[in-house]
Amino acid sequence: MTGRGHRFTGIGAGFMAAAIARMAKAPEMIELIAAVVALLSTTMPDWIEIPFYRGGQRVGSLITHRTLTHWPPLWFALIAWGVHDGTVLGAIAIGSAVGSLVHILGDAPNPMGIPWILPHKRLRIGQKGLWKSGKYEVPLILGFAVTGFGLWYLAGGKSLIH
Ligand SMILES: [Zn+2]
Repeated sequence: MTGRGHRFTGIGAGFMAAAIARMAKAPEMIELIAAVVALLSTTMPDWIEIPFYRGGQRVGSLITHRTLTHWPPLWFALIAWGVHDGTVLGAIAIGSAVGSLVHILGDAPNPMGIPWILPHKRLRIGQKGLWKSGKYEVPLILGFAVTGFGLWYLAGGKSLIH
């Protein structure tokens, strides 16, 4: 998925983070912070690799691309910690982890794959991945948005809109 595509998946990520905070019975302020942080975090797994650029092209990074930063268990653990913590810091943890997981899901179908199980071992889906980066971005963005909104609605968000 392209950087632009990832940024738009932030809409779905925001609702997903809000849904988690709501299921954890966090105060609305915590829910809002988690949502806003998630909205802004869907490019994070790429830039926390500390990339180097030459002539506008990404030529490498301090952390190997799509390894530790794209490892789902790390972010699930951070969500669990954030829910347990329950403070503003916890809300930031939930938001950044949900945004990162949505990013990883956006990358997962590409030929390069993501490290599903071990952090240094990328696995692609099938022989060649499902599709190349940049394809099906609009349906993916809409899919995340609808899923996120649905989860939030079911988690009790409906009481805010009725
Ligand atoms: Zn990525």
